[in-house]
Amino acid sequence: MQDKDGFIWLDGHWLPWREARVHVLTHTLHYGYGCFEGLRAYATPAGPAIFRLAEHLRRLEDSAHILAIDLPFDRASLAAACREAVTRNGLKSGYIRPLIFLGAEKTGVDPAGAATHAMVAAWDWGAYLGQTALDNGIRVRVSSYARHHPNVQMCRAKAISMYANSILAVREARRDGYDEALLLDTEGYVAEGSSENLFLVRDGELLQPETTSALDGITRRTVCTLAGELGLAVRSKRITRDELYCADEVFLTGTAAEITPVIEVDRRRIGDGRPGPLTRQLQQAFFACVRGEDARHADWLTPV
Ligand code: PMP
Repeated sequence: MQDKDGFIWLDGHWLPWREARVHVLTHTLHYGYGCFEGLRAYATPAGPAIFRLAEHLRRLEDSAHILAIDLPFDRASLAAACREAVTRNGLKSGYIRPLIFLGAEKTGVDPAGAATHAMVAAWDWGAYLGQTALDNGIRVRVSSYARHHPNVQMCRAKAISMYANSILAVREARRDGYDEALLLDTEGYVAEGSSENLFLVRDGELLQPETTSALDGITRRTVCTLAGELGLAVRSKRITRDELYCADEVFLTGTAAEITPVIEVDRRRIGDGRPGPLTRQLQQAFFACVRGEDARHADWLTPV
């Protein structure tokens, strides 16, 4: 990734891709304190457009606030950097990564004295789990690792340090031959995937876990709106793993993973072992929105 052409925004300046570097004593590199966002730009008839830019930047502000980090740039500057990251890198579509980190001005756990830095990069990124995953669905396992208790790591923040837990879970799942991990909370209820929220369908109703130990996903919110428009009831509740096993349909949502059907959980087939009809309908509605084909949700797209 580091050796490619293009430009990265760092602290208000555009640097050639290969020159966007940090010092090895960067505080966040040692202690994982910081936060980030992941956005997608899609090709639309009117050119590339960023999906739900304002919501992502609001969540970045929330994440920084939860971590008690003062953002060094306002929303308008970060929005401009996200848009320009797409255009400067000549992307028709792609993934955009803003990240807030503490610098090398200070070592030791207490970051007081370390400067807060901001960067935005954008690159071409296809289907996160592969096109086959979107088309045919994936196999997941319940992780042996639990998602954070809210008094350990506040999951409403998209904090960098959350992802050591995600990485352990996804590596365990892949080592065991699965595509993705599902994490339960510390009480044993379903929380989320390693980087996706989760929904299940049972008897025509859409159920999702409460977000106590899960990120408040923007794709998840999008799906709730689209489900309402399709006349589907959506309910948030505690979900047990055996409810998942008995679901008619299960799917994961995320900016990177988009809407990915789940066809197997812990070697139990979900439904008939193929992506279900409601998952398909929601996928179609979602892709129509992001590609600018649904005029009702034109306000979810920011042209670059
Ligand atoms: N949970 C976690 C842990 C994630 O990393 C992500 C990806 N940002 C999600 C859920 C889905 O969130 P969103 O739909 O906003 O991308």
